Amino acid sequence: MNLILLGAPGAGKGTQAEVICDHLNIPAISTGNIIREALKNGTELGLKAKSYMDSGALVPDEVVIDIIKERLSKDDCQNGFILDGFPRTVPQAEALDAMGVKIDKVIDIEVADEKIMKRLSGRRVCQECGASYHIDYKPSKVEGKCDKCNGETVLRKDDHPDTIKERLEVYHEQTEPLKDYYAKTGKLTIVEGQEEVKDTTALTLKALEA
Ligand SMILES: [Zn+2]
Repeated sequence: MNLILLGAPGAGKGTQAEVICDHLNIPAISTGNIIREALKNGTELGLKAKSYMDSGALVPDEVVIDIIKERLSKDDCQNGFILDGFPRTVPQAEALDAMGVKIDKVIDIEVADEKIMKRLSGRRVCQECGASYHIDYKPSKVEGKCDKCNGETVLRKDDHPDTIKERLEVYHEQTEPLKDYYAKTGKLTIVEGQEEVKDTTALTLKALEA
């Protein structure tokens, strides 16, 4: 099954992608990950993408599309794949169609902006070991200190309320129109993100069978 996962930053797409990946035994392909992979392997496309990311800009469509094309041609995608974080814009979706990539289903994980704001801005990450906490949902035993290594836990720049607000604005403007794009093809299923991850997971698995 060829799947696309849509959703705002912080909606929990990545977690649901892992669930589907295990369930259907197909790879979850996130642009972030394949760009990192391309970088690690020092490919030309990886370096190109990096130059944009370093300057804080979005990687342009044509670069992302080439990277996706390269990735989807690998053997492990023969039985299907989950695209997480791509397409991000309508032109990218059109490019995917133009590449002849058949999409069976698009699952949109819906979470209200206020909830995303609360989830992300409460996140704290250990500077030493990368362990992740949340001031409300998963606090460390001592505030500001990692349970595992006693390192300092910090609010990452990406999770700063101003940054989240910007990322959500970009999402609403550029990515959300994809819901209409795929609704018109009859492939869109909306999953309402729940407080508990396991409840969202149950809805996602149901959406796969629908
Ligand atoms: Zn730590």
